[in-house]
Amino acid sequence: MAIREIVTFPDERLRQICAPVTEFDAALKELTDDMFETMYDDEGIGLAAPQIGIEKRIVVIDIPEEDGKQGKNKLVLINPKITAKEGEVASEEGCLSVPEYRAEIKRYEKITLECQDLNGQKQIYEADGLLAICMQHELDHLDGKLFIDYLSRLKRDRLLTKYRKLKKEQARAHE
Ligand SMILES: [Zn+2]
Repeated sequence: MAIREIVTFPDERLRQICAPVTEFDAALKELTDDMFETMYDDEGIGLAAPQIGIEKRIVVIDIPEEDGKQGKNKLVLINPKITAKEGEVASEEGCLSVPEYRAEIKRYEKITLECQDLNGQKQIYEADGLLAICMQHELDHLDGKLFIDYLSRLKRDRLLTKYRKLKKEQARAHE
């Protein structure tokens, strides 16, 4: 297993439409292991493959228990799609690809999600609460969408300016 580098906004790799997974092999399992390790290292609850520069429809999620511990609710979603949705809920979201920023975003309250597992078997999940929100956030990544796209243009432009400046400073520090 290995911790991969996280791609951060405004990197164009976060804006691609990801390709479906067709091979359910050992390499896929290894990739999802790396995704979990990378996610835990950065204290995330979900991670989509494009966030580590892999343009494929793969998501890992692990919603913590009440004591904050992770590891019991590991989910691997391959080629996921939302097949039913209802209600509305607003909550504060963050993203490992948009570090140190949080914003209130509206999502569907309950969803039904269909996907494949690591063996290519079809799985169906009925989700609500934090899991449903996390699934919607991560699925957006597979279509090149970020949670900040739901914000007003003004807020997004401000963020873009801030993150471009930050990247320049980081690049300079590495020279
Ligand atoms: Zn995200």
